[in-house]
Amino acid sequence: MSSQPQPFTPSSTLFVQRRSHLVQVLRERGIADEAVLAAIGVVPREAFVPDVLAANAYDDTALPIDELQTISQPFTVATMTSAVGVRSGSKILEIGTGSGYQAAVLAALGAIVYTIERHALLSHQARERFRRLGLQNIHTRVSDGSIGWAAQAPFDGILVTAGAPDVPEALARQLSIGGRLIVPVGDRVGQTLYSVTRTGDETWSAQDLGPFKFVPLIGAEGWQDGVR
Ligand code: SAM
Repeated sequence: MSSQPQPFTPSSTLFVQRRSHLVQVLRERGIADEAVLAAIGVVPREAFVPDVLAANAYDDTALPIDELQTISQPFTVATMTSAVGVRSGSKILEIGTGSGYQAAVLAALGAIVYTIERHALLSHQARERFRRLGLQNIHTRVSDGSIGWAAQAPFDGILVTAGAPDVPEALARQLSIGGRLIVPVGDRVGQTLYSVTRTGDETWSAQDLGPFKFVPLIGAEGWQDGVR
């Protein structure tokens, strides 16, 4: 299946300038995938943050959103998107819709996106943003994403945007052969980001992408005692 890169409404000149500065910052920080940089260069991050934080939308930082969650730092989004390896028409599962920004970046690359969020309010807000921006290749669901979306598997790539205590086996098994699962694994204070590639029916290999910090993955294959 193939899809076209998705349309976006124009931003103000100020936001356009800040966005292109952010792309420059990410390039200087080592993000080398030009397609990913171009996608970050077209997605209006100001549309995914609370109105009062719009002036900070292009800082390279995580920002608070509702339900005590965060929109991930742009460097983290760029690293995960580069690592999963998106092509036009790739079928990508995201766990942790949050604001919807990461899903929009994947859609801008031409992916068909399936994204799961455990908080109904966040999923609803993200859906409304996708509608306003004219993004059509993003499918949303409210459920425990730590066990994936079996009915839609297999996926060419899976991004987990919350920190897990271990690699969720259900997600590893929902990859196609050659597909990659990008997942932060560690404790609640900090995690190591891993790229796990499915190399065969019962075989996977893992690569360490460095230290990161995420909010916890709460669910059957995540942390089970959290309130967030
Ligand atoms: N990708 C998001 C974005 O672009 O804004 C950032 C996500 S935020 C760092 C992590 C999200 O994972 C939170 O919204 C949280 O509610 C969600 N989450 C945590 N555990 C989850 C689970 N088991 N299933 C689905 N979502 C989960």
